[in-house]
Amino acid sequence: MSSEIKQKITHLRDTLNHLNHQYYINDISEVSDYEFDLMLKELQELEKNYPEFYDENSPTLRVGGGITKNFNSVNHEYRMYSLDNSYSKEELLDWEKRIEKALGIKPSYTCELKFDGASISLKYENGKLRQAVTRGDGFIGDEITNNIRTIKTVPLLLQKDFSDIFYVRGEIMLPLSGFNKMNEERKENEQELYANPRNTASGSLKLQDSNEVARRPLMCFIYSMVGKNLPIHSQIEMLKYTSELGFNVPKNYQLCEDLDDVFKFIETWETKRFELDYEIDGIVIKVNDFQQQEELGYTSKSPRWAIAYKYQAEQAETILESVSFQVGRTGTVTPVANLTPVQLAGTTVKRASIHNEDFINKMDLYLEDSVFVEKGGEIIPKIVGVDINKRKPNAEKVVFPENCPECGSKLIKKESEANHFCLNEKECTPQIIGKIEHFVSRKALNIESIGSETIALLVKNNLVHDFSDLYYLKKEDLIRLERMAEKSAQNIIDSLEKSKEIPFEKVLYGLGIRHVGETVAKKLAKEFKTIDNLKSASLEELISVEDVGEKIAESIISYFEDEDNLRIISRLKDNNIQLEIIESESEIDSDILANKTFLFTGKLTQFTRQEAGEMVEKNGGKNISAVSKNLDYLIVGEKAGSKLQKAQKLGTVTILTETEFLELINAERK
Ligand code: AMP
Ligand code: ZN
Repeated sequence: MSSEIKQKITHLRDTLNHLNHQYYINDISEVSDYEFDLMLKELQELEKNYPEFYDENSPTLRVGGGITKNFNSVNHEYRMYSLDNSYSKEELLDWEKRIEKALGIKPSYTCELKFDGASISLKYENGKLRQAVTRGDGFIGDEITNNIRTIKTVPLLLQKDFSDIFYVRGEIMLPLSGFNKMNEERKENEQELYANPRNTASGSLKLQDSNEVARRPLMCFIYSMVGKNLPIHSQIEMLKYTSELGFNVPKNYQLCEDLDDVFKFIETWETKRFELDYEIDGIVIKVNDFQQQEELGYTSKSPRWAIAYKYQAEQAETILESVSFQVGRTGTVTPVANLTPVQLAGTTVKRASIHNEDFINKMDLYLEDSVFVEKGGEIIPKIVGVDINKRKPNAEKVVFPENCPECGSKLIKKESEANHFCLNEKECTPQIIGKIEHFVSRKALNIESIGSETIALLVKNNLVHDFSDLYYLKKEDLIRLERMAEKSAQNIIDSLEKSKEIPFEKVLYGLGIRHVGETVAKKLAKEFKTIDNLKSASLEELISVEDVGEKIAESIISYFEDEDNLRIISRLKDNNIQLEIIESESEIDSDILANKTFLFTGKLTQFTRQEAGEMVEKNGGKNISAVSKNLDYLIVGEKAGSKLQKAQKLGTVTILTETEFLELINAERK
């Protein structure tokens, strides 16, 4: 039995590792996401029930698990050097002169992209990932293995046998698409935006909760391998070899016979880099041959055999024509610079973000100033400087308005926050429109047929003032709107009807309670089950929910203190919008086992381990995997062994037979 389970677990792990490698490194999907998830779930279940087969490199750990309170410091067995920088052809020619003098010949070079992320050292032993350490000061770094394991492009097992210890080095990157997606979500949830992909990548590596790291779309590029007796003799061989071992080695490197080839590579990537889905800040040039590298050696800081060529950040100079102040769904007022259109990194730029009042003051912006704009990983470029010499004599200083540009009410700026707010949330048009847009958005009620233009029209024509009004719209009302065809009107009515099937958690998110994002809404729905329970929850009860802090709890309470909000909710109720969890969703039979923990041991005859685990959960109990003081019930099947003995010795555990367990859930259920 046990060897069968072990086989099954090994088989699942091998299959999942293989599929992962195909998908993330080779871009090949051999099975559907659904099939993949099923296998992963099966493995998770088996590992939960058979903790004796734990493996620190199981693919299940990719989804996160451990919390690290303090990261251990680890000495690098091989120092992690930094790189010398250069900014011109001349500097590269000088570098070559020094090399030629030391070697007596001109070597050949490799050119690689200089990935702009967080560097990492990965230790492998017996073909398995053992340890991941940040660069730190080059001598000592932080051990962040749990977090690194969640990154799918880091192989946990190698594709080829290699039993000796070795290290690979590389860069942890956050792709631009992933970064922008994270920021869009944060914007929707009114959280402060991340500044750039690099800082977000390195910040992610130091998160204590590896589950959170797993949710971030990080990836890993490898560019170096160190160790004893490695079967490689040059940088090019190294790149090929590590790729065969299963590492993610970008293919955009090149062997260059001389510096002219290097210059061409640099020129090509100067513009081509903007097509990449990640940021590079230059090119790394290395002497290809390891023997020659050894001869050249190191300075106190960096290898003599390598140098970075850094690109200037792409900048453009243009005129600041005006500043618009935009009011968002929650009343935040954001200044945006309107610029004389200018070409930058292959696109025409007309607007740039200027964040908030502090930024305006720091930059000391005047209208008609000549400003420098730069493009980073963000969607909108940013202003990075002003040419004061070109300032017009009577230029007007950019000032933050005292009143809302939309509704005229006085703006508020709290001590602790950088943003100005318009508090007139019920009468300020962009806020009215924004709240409805949020309600119909994909992650909320998902009413696709109502676009932003339609919402603006509905509000302008006084047909709708808040989202509950949507459910009172008649087809005739809609047809009367500008450019509204009969078919579109019908679509809107149909999709409103369909939105009544949207589950409570999404409706709760759609209400737009300040600081209640998607995740928090999910947790609140699960915990309180109905809008009425949530409404009557106390501050303490709210805070006891995972991810809910005081700020969120207070916001929820004040939301329900508002008469208008209560009226909106009751109108939603009248229209049969889901304001509670439907029983089958929660899959709860009872909560008679609430706060109790269970463990099954021995050979079970009346049900399988999986069924047993499900019965516990469906009745509100919790499965745990070991006998300890935290265990309430041990259910023993045939031939129970050490777990039973341990439980008896502890004396605090209630020991049940399978039948007694069934009676426990049935008897009390009546
Ligand atoms: P710097 O941080 O500017 O001193 O540059 C050195 C860093 O560049 C190294 O620590 C690496 O993390 C990073 N780097 C990025 N891409 C490469 C690459 N292809 N080869 C070597 N180092 C790289
Ligand atoms: Zn306003």
